[in-house]
Amino acid sequence: MKNCVSIVLALLFICLSFTGCGKRETGAARDEKTDVSSSSSIETSSVVSVPEEPAPAGLDANFSILLLANPDNPLPKDYDSTNPLLELPAKYLNGELKQVDAEIYPYLMALLDAAWADGIELYVRSPYRSYATQEMLFKNKIDRVIKAGTPADQAEAEAAKVVARPGTSEHQTGLAVDFNTTTNAFETMPQYKWLKENAEDYGFIMRYPSDKEDITKIVYEPWHWRFVGIKVAREMNFLGVTLEEYLDR
Ligand SMILES: [Zn+2]
Repeated sequence: MKNCVSIVLALLFICLSFTGCGKRETGAARDEKTDVSSSSSIETSSVVSVPEEPAPAGLDANFSILLLANPDNPLPKDYDSTNPLLELPAKYLNGELKQVDAEIYPYLMALLDAAWADGIELYVRSPYRSYATQEMLFKNKIDRVIKAGTPADQAEAEAAKVVARPGTSEHQTGLAVDFNTTTNAFETMPQYKWLKENAEDYGFIMRYPSDKEDITKIVYEPWHWRFVGIKVAREMNFLGVTLEEYLDR
C-alpha cells in the first residue's frame, strides 16, 4: 500500500513538473515571437526593397524613363521628375552628389551589389545634378577658360565644349550616372569591362560611344551610363543605336 501511494505521488509530481515546464516554454516562445515581429516591422518600414535578380524584360517598359535631354533638347530650368529623388548609400559613392530618380534606384543598387559581389569596386561619382548645380559648374568653367587666355566673348562656346550648358545635362533627369572616374582611363579599368558585359541586364547603356559623337553631340564618355530599362537596353545594344536613334526610329 505504501508503495502504491509513493507511485501515485511520484506520478503526480512528474505530471505537475511537466505542466509547469510547458507553461514556461509557452511564455518564452510568446515573448520571442513578439520580439521577432516587432523588429521585422521596423526593418520593412525603413529598408527600400532591392530586387535580387534583374526584373524580367518587358516589365519595365515605361516611356518616362526614355526622357531625352541633350544639346538640342534641353530640360526646362524648373524640370522636376514626378518621382522623388533617393539618396545612394555612402559605401557606393565617391563624389559629393548622392541622389538618383526613385525609378532607377533599385536597378542601380542591384547593379552595384552585383559588381561588388564579383569583386569589382564600382562607385557612383556623379548622379543627379540640378539645374542650379549645372549653372554653377558652367560658370566655373567659363571663368577657368578666361583665366587660361580665351577672350571673354568666346569663353562660353569654349566652356560648352567640355561642360554641358545648363539644362542639357542628362544628369538633370536623375536617370544617368558617372562611375569611378570621368577620364578616358575608365575604359581600361575592370569596372568598364564589367559594365560592358553586365549593365544591360540592369537596364543601363553606355550613353556616349566614341563612334556616335556626331549623333549625341557629346564627346566619348565611357564613364557615363544611362538607365533606359532592361528591355530597351538590350534592344539598343542589339541594334547598336544611341538613345537619339532609338527614339527617332
Ligand atoms: Zn555624365
